[in-house]
Amino acid sequence: MAPEESSLDRMTKRSLIPVYTHDMIDIHVQRAGLSPYVHPTASSNENLVLGRTPGLSRHPAHPADPPIPRLKIYGYRICSELRAVAEKKMVLAACNHGNEHSGSWLLQGAVDFLLGDDKRAQQLRRHVEFFVYPSVNPEGRYIAVNRISLGAAPDPEGRNRFRGNPQLYIAGEADNNRVWNTDGRFTNIDIVKNAMKKDTGGKADYFWDLHDLHDPGNWRSPGGREAWESPYGRALRARGKDVVVAGLPEGHKPGLYRPGLPAHSGKLSEWAMLGEGLAAPYSFVYESGEYLQERLIQAGEDIVLALYDSLAS
Ligand SMILES: [Zn+2]
Repeated sequence: MAPEESSLDRMTKRSLIPVYTHDMIDIHVQRAGLSPYVHPTASSNENLVLGRTPGLSRHPAHPADPPIPRLKIYGYRICSELRAVAEKKMVLAACNHGNEHSGSWLLQGAVDFLLGDDKRAQQLRRHVEFFVYPSVNPEGRYIAVNRISLGAAPDPEGRNRFRGNPQLYIAGEADNNRVWNTDGRFTNIDIVKNAMKKDTGGKADYFWDLHDLHDPGNWRSPGGREAWESPYGRALRARGKDVVVAGLPEGHKPGLYRPGLPAHSGKLSEWAMLGEGLAAPYSFVYESGEYLQERLIQAGEDIVLALYDSLAS
């Protein structure tokens, strides 16, 4: 039996994953925005900004806390033409958990491929409308990158977790991926949910919430068998042969599978499947393995290439 992995081993592995800072999200969106295939959504302005986080000003009782800036939350569309009517809609989201940098590399890999000259990218741009939300929890990323533990907004789960953001912590919540069933409580949740619904018209075909290190690298769906046996799910499995499907019977984490519509436990991937969300038949979560930058970019490309494979077959 393999010795149990210590929390120190996990921290070492995590430290090897290339950082993706909030500034890098800004730069990548600005660069993507130069492409003729990138357009604002119904909710974003010409700079592809949906809104800003609340930030946190200096607290007199906690003078050691740095102020947290108000950060941009982005949303944009990728398709061949501004007014193209595409047959399918895919949503890509990252930065749900602030400390999970890999998801941003995956998103960059998918977006850069879609904006490139590859013939398959051209076909995808013609037939699919992509809705991209690269910064669904930017304050979470900001405090994770800068290792900021705030006295005024302590993480209920303790130091070095960084799964929430200051506004959540003040409300006693620890995990940004358990509050997507709330309304009117958290700025980033409200901005992103309202935008996704308005932008897609309340209906997406495929949805991705891109996360981070989880050994082994895997993807999963709250939809269970219907998702992993769908043409897209099969194409994904064919492309990422070393990526396991979490939830398969007798496979990795078999208990994940729950027949029928998911109970809404506040996860973004579940909200996306619900009628009150995006009614997406196929909703997925990616948890990359111990991938470095090149492999992360390739895994992101596979997410959209598998869609090409399934639509072309
Ligand atoms: Zn996560």
